[in-house]
Amino acid sequence: MRKTTKKDEELVAMAQQVAQDYYDEIHHCVGCALRSKSGVIYVGINMDGIHSICAEQVAISTATVAKDTDFATIVSVGVHKDGSTQIITPCGTCRQFFVEYAPNIEVITSDGVFSLQELLPQAYQIHNR
Ligand SMILES: [Zn+2]
Repeated sequence: MRKTTKKDEELVAMAQQVAQDYYDEIHHCVGCALRSKSGVIYVGINMDGIHSICAEQVAISTATVAKDTDFATIVSVGVHKDGSTQIITPCGTCRQFFVEYAPNIEVITSDGVFSLQELLPQAYQIHNR
């Protein structure tokens, strides 16, 4: 774990902005910001419904379409009904998704910045990467 930097805080602010801009009590309550090592930032929102997709997966998919898949840092922010926000840690499905699509990513949490290995030790892996 490491402490957050100014760049990390900028990413948090972007995730907060996305989460608040697209907030919809039924469909969208999480915003995500993902920085690739190229410096480009991609964002995503969760898509709730019968089959839900997490904001983190949307952001990684968007970056993948842009062929920018060397990821540096990711953060997600949830919005409460009163409009307040909080950094949220990725769900188990997203942690496994990172193992497969972003194995070197760092995750910003309210307690600091963690490696994927720290968040999901002994992860399930089909292939050796
Ligand atoms: Zn998730």
